[in-house]
Amino acid sequence: MKNVFNFSAGPAMLPPAVMAQAQQEFVNWGDSGCSIMEVSHRGADFIEIAAQAEQDLRDLMQVPDNYKVLFLQGGGRGQFAAVPLNISTETDTSLHLVSGSWSRGAVAEAAKYNNAKVIGDVVEHNGLQYVPQPAAADIDQRAAYLHFCPNETVDGIAFNWLPDAGDVPLVADMSSTIMSGPVDVSKYGIIYAGAQKNIGPSGLSVVIVREDLVGKARQSTPSIFDYELMANNDSMYNTPPTFSWYLAGLVFKWLKAQGGVAAMASRNQHKADTLYAAIDSSSFYRNNVHPDNRSIMNVPFHLADPALDKLFLEKSQAAGLLALKGHRSVGGMRASIYNAMPIEGIEALVSFMREFEEHHG
Ligand code: PMP
Repeated sequence: MKNVFNFSAGPAMLPPAVMAQAQQEFVNWGDSGCSIMEVSHRGADFIEIAAQAEQDLRDLMQVPDNYKVLFLQGGGRGQFAAVPLNISTETDTSLHLVSGSWSRGAVAEAAKYNNAKVIGDVVEHNGLQYVPQPAAADIDQRAAYLHFCPNETVDGIAFNWLPDAGDVPLVADMSSTIMSGPVDVSKYGIIYAGAQKNIGPSGLSVVIVREDLVGKARQSTPSIFDYELMANNDSMYNTPPTFSWYLAGLVFKWLKAQGGVAAMASRNQHKADTLYAAIDSSSFYRNNVHPDNRSIMNVPFHLADPALDKLFLEKSQAAGLLALKGHRSVGGMRASIYNAMPIEGIEALVSFMREFEEHHG
């Protein structure tokens, strides 16, 4: 098999050891003669897998007992709608910090269901983007919730502070940062994430919701998005994405074996530092995010001469460094370096970047 490093933003690379295990179990799970994806979600085998995955997630993220963990469908965008439907009325205000394209998308969706109000936006100063903290006076204590995206996948912008919202529940879209490091879950009302970056295959989204926010859904909320209904049915009111859930469970076991999210945090920091150092040490490459707000999961960078973008992408692809094209809305390059990306992938990318600069700089 070709040896490659896959820098896709999502669906993204999964740990090779997990893929090998899934391959081995694919047609004959636990000597049952069936694939796990061929059995009922109501059977003892799948229920055991589902419950174990939830427990492992709880252990990894140290989820307090007064939080429900839901395994839903509809991806990250599904939650853009589910959150307002579950915890706000039509006349309520939701507060939004915008730090990039996904949190902006969340505002547009919330505005269909409540009074969505932007209280902070990315600022560019001396060519560097950063996220300013809102003034306490901007946080209306009557608001239903405050939504933000701790790590913007497209823009490579991360929060280095937690909004101080008083009693207003914090809602965080952690799609591209969940389990990349420790998080104090008790500070949040809701954490949600599409699975296809740090958790497993697409088709699954994880929602961690504080119990007092469960049971408030509007009557018009689609049943499969109703947190209370889903919690009361162990996320199996409808047929769940069983294979994605099973694979997420394997990823959680792998994460535990790696030392958990604290160990991932130091590895991820080292990977990101190595890549940003290579970008910063050269005038051939640049990253436009203020060092305080740089993402350790998604590293966008531009070539000084965009006319070389196409060649960079062709040559990197040929060198086995896949999916480095930046999002179409920002151009340039982006290396997504989630938990599964080993340091060897970063080293290979950095040495390719140096070589490319030597030939074309
Ligand atoms: N939020 C973030 C931070 C994302 O990165 C993405 C997808 N890349 C989404 C939301 C949307 O997720 P989905 O495509 O699963 O709806």
